Amino acid sequence: MKAAPFSYFRASSLDEAIEALATPDSRVLAGGQSLVPLLNLRQARPSLVVDINRVDDLSFLRKENGRLEIGALTRHRVVETSEVVRSEVPLLAEALAYVGHVAIRNRGTIGGSLAHADPAAELPAVMLALDAEFVVRGPSGERIVAARDFFLGPHRTALASGELLTRISVPLSRGVCAVEELSRRSRDLALVAVFAVVSMSDGVCETARIAVAGAGPTPIRAIAAEESLAGGALTADAITDAAESVAAATDPPDDLHAPAGYRREMAAVLTRRAITRAKGRA
Ligand SMILES: Cc1cc2nc3c(=O)[nH]c(=O)nc-3n(C[C@H](O)[C@H](O)[C@H](O)COP(=O)(O)OP(=O)(O)OC[C@H]3O[C@@H](n4cnc5c(N)ncnc54)[C@H](O)[C@@H]3O)c2cc1C
Repeated sequence: MKAAPFSYFRASSLDEAIEALATPDSRVLAGGQSLVPLLNLRQARPSLVVDINRVDDLSFLRKENGRLEIGALTRHRVVETSEVVRSEVPLLAEALAYVGHVAIRNRGTIGGSLAHADPAAELPAVMLALDAEFVVRGPSGERIVAARDFFLGPHRTALASGELLTRISVPLSRGVCAVEELSRRSRDLALVAVFAVVSMSDGVCETARIAVAGAGPTPIRAIAAEESLAGGALTADAITDAAESVAAATDPPDDLHAPAGYRREMAAVLTRRAITRAKGRA
């Protein structure tokens, strides 16, 4: 199929993009890795497509005041291969290797993945685990939205009509991380994926952060499991209890890809593996 007719505008500055997005039914085009298929399948029928690929000040990656600041238009591959990201926020680099294939990651952008808000996608869950903040700009100025308040449902976010995600701000993470993902084929969207960051001191878990993709209408942060691990040794029993707690926090879909019960069980299995691996790396 071909896309339904739409008008196209290539913005050369942030102000131009914001102004164009005031048009009713307009849609941002970043890397196009999700939007173009949606247009071609006519699941998206915008009246205007606003191309932000020439807006230079949306593409950057820098360490600043104990945080990693990422422009929304920064390509996945740039972030994945950045030495700063690998050393300061390794969970992000590790998780990005699971986002499609290299050709997809060469075009796809961090902001596009987050705005697309697929509940099975890796980056929304990673940003939850990292307590990231999103800078959003619209006609009435700029606001900051915490990752935990951003994802409202499948493909639904806190972005209001006419707003653009401009920057992602991630605290540098202490601790060791692990990613465990189950998908039907290598680098497909996850059936279930678990992202964990654990900080240890003298064999005791100081903090644990766990987020799950593919197991609910939005990515899930497993707070009860995190609290159960904090302050104790990561024994096999403690990890099993946490894994069960993660499974209990899920609300998985029952669809043609996998039954809900299977996804829930896999959330527990992958959590056990992720925490065990993180512990081994600590
Ligand atoms: C073969 C294939 C495999 C894939 N595998 C995976 C996978 O394993 N994991 C995964 O997570 N994804 C996967 N994807 C999806 C895709 O990689 C991401 O969703 C994509 O990279 C999104 O970024 P983009 O820049 O291409 O966004 P676009 O396609 O340009 O836009 C996506 C949506 O976000 C909006 N948008 C984009 N940027 C902004 C912004 N700055 N502010 C506000 N709204 C914005 C657009 O309007 C659109 O609604 C796959 C895609 C393909 C084609």
